[in-house]
Amino acid sequence: MSGGQPWTAQEIVLVRIESEGGLVGWGEAFSYSCQRPVVAAIEDMIAPLVVGREVTNVSFFMRELQQAVHLFGRYGVVMFGFSGLDIALWDLAAKAAGKPLARLINDRAPLTPLPGYASLYRYGDAELVAAKCRAALGQGYRVIKLHEVTEAEVQAARRQIGEDIALIVDVNCAWSLDQSRAMARSFRPYSLLWLEEPIFPPDDFAALATLNNEAGIALAAGENLCTRYQIGQMIAAGAVSYVQPSVTKVGGVTEFLAAAELTQAGGLKLMPHSPYFGPGWLATLQLISAVPEAGYVERLFVELQASLYGDYVNPADGNFKVPDGPGLGLEPDPDVIDRYRL
Ligand SMILES: [Mg+2]
Repeated sequence: MSGGQPWTAQEIVLVRIESEGGLVGWGEAFSYSCQRPVVAAIEDMIAPLVVGREVTNVSFFMRELQQAVHLFGRYGVVMFGFSGLDIALWDLAAKAAGKPLARLINDRAPLTPLPGYASLYRYGDAELVAAKCRAALGQGYRVIKLHEVTEAEVQAARRQIGEDIALIVDVNCAWSLDQSRAMARSFRPYSLLWLEEPIFPPDDFAALATLNNEAGIALAAGENLCTRYQIGQMIAAGAVSYVQPSVTKVGGVTEFLAAAELTQAGGLKLMPHSPYFGPGWLATLQLISAVPEAGYVERLFVELQASLYGDYVNPADGNFKVPDGPGLGLEPDPDVIDRYRL
């Protein structure tokens, strides 16, 4: 289930921008099962501010837009829409410069393959979790993330993968502070690389900081935060060790880069959130390549019926290639769009 609905398909909102000179930029707005509201935000609120405008500096332009519509809210659906726009504008900017986005951001971005981790669904079944862990190891992953909320599954995973493979548990804001304390204690024997989003609500940084001081386990969070300001508040609160901006949610490349700087300045580790397969996936690859010491690529552990970007969504020995074409590096496959568009 995702957002209370069966999760058998993943909906992607694509944002397409054409420049006067004929270049096309692609972006992705986070949506899953809230696709229609995100599309409405883009069509009704955002597009009218953008069509026909001259954009010479994407960050300044986005700042102006954020200010223009701030009274409608700066988080959630509105910012998902902005994220899609921002990614498309950066794609355009890098194409205009004739460079992959990573090199537009950082001349020396290596564009070498990036280590990824398998981000498993929640199965609630220890045997199934062990089987999925085996399958992930078979694809060369050295890091595995579970979305389980009880000890039996975590134990089964650790037994299956042995001590040399890094194990992460993400519970998607399942608990109160007290419950988190107890669960963190019960997970301690399994030497987790981090525990992700233990506490609801995700913006209770004080509770997260309390847990972070006591738990004896590294915490990660940030995928549900928007803009550099909210990420900055989490960092200032001392709430986590790993900071997880999501390029399709946080406000696109612009806000992601600002969040990355705050993360580095705070002496923390950047660990992007990216369980999606559209332009936001490519933007994540470009950003991880561009930002020094960015973390692993999160790859949702599912088999896709089709890919917008061929093999670039699939690991080779647990690593992901960074496309070196201009912009995000690749164009989405028009046949896949035709076949799957809603
Ligand atoms: Mg997560």
